[in-house]
Amino acid sequence: MKPELCSVHTHSTLCDGKGTLEEMAAAAFAAGVRYFGASGHSHTPAPGDQDCVLPEDLSEYRREVLRLREAYQGRMEVLLGIEQDSCSLQPVPDWMEYWIGSVHELFDRITGVYHSIDWDREKLAECCREMFGGDGLSMVRGYYADAAAMAERKPTILGHLDQIVKLNGDGAFFDEESAAYRSAALEALHAADPGATLLEINTGGMARGYRTTPYPALFLLREWHEMGGGVILTADSHSPDTVVFGYGQAAELARAAGYRESWLLTRNGPVACPLEKTR
Ligand SMILES: [Zn+2]
Ligand SMILES: [Zn+2]
Repeated sequence: MKPELCSVHTHSTLCDGKGTLEEMAAAAFAAGVRYFGASGHSHTPAPGDQDCVLPEDLSEYRREVLRLREAYQGRMEVLLGIEQDSCSLQPVPDWMEYWIGSVHELFDRITGVYHSIDWDREKLAECCREMFGGDGLSMVRGYYADAAAMAERKPTILGHLDQIVKLNGDGAFFDEESAAYRSAALEALHAADPGATLLEINTGGMARGYRTTPYPALFLLREWHEMGGGVILTADSHSPDTVVFGYGQAAELARAAGYRESWLLTRNGPVACPLEKTR
């Protein structure tokens, strides 16, 4: 069976990736991807983000993606997207063909400090201590409140929904199995509209050695399946060698949650595809 590979969660040197957009597209094409999307990090005012996100002026980004679309015409679809950060002040431009809604940092309104939750353990500890008095469960609730607000905006794709676990290791900050943790995560999921949004099964944390399984956890995928929502496999790729990283494992996880198909993002909109073809 001919695979129908889709990779629309990708980063490049225009934000925090290791390959240029051209190198990422070339790697995707070489890997057999038919639907490639650029999803650079939207600009944020966080001081620590300045070398890791797209500039406020998105014209170069847009131009380069559209140039690649021309270059791959008839061979691979190239989609123009963005990973919209919950802390971005700019709205998603109306010319974006799709957007991924994600939370990477929490903004402390009292101190005016942006706390990264996915950078490193020290920064996560700092967030927990300075914003939540050292209470991991309060941090979880703060994170999922922002994730719920993002879900309510009906992104095309809801990004790494439970990324707060990325640096939690074996439970240093909170217990991922606890009822309190799960209910905070489920509340955020329930804010998403299964008719408008795809949930991504994201292998980026695996590719970079932080996790051994994709995001999100199985209980969240099962609930999303119950809600009638669709999933899309993504690599959250930051370098040319990971454009379809771990898709086999992501497909297995989808299957365990009850899915028989995942969705591809195409220029004509999302298209359902049997799981065995999307890996
Ligand atoms: Zn992200
Ligand atoms: Zn990303």
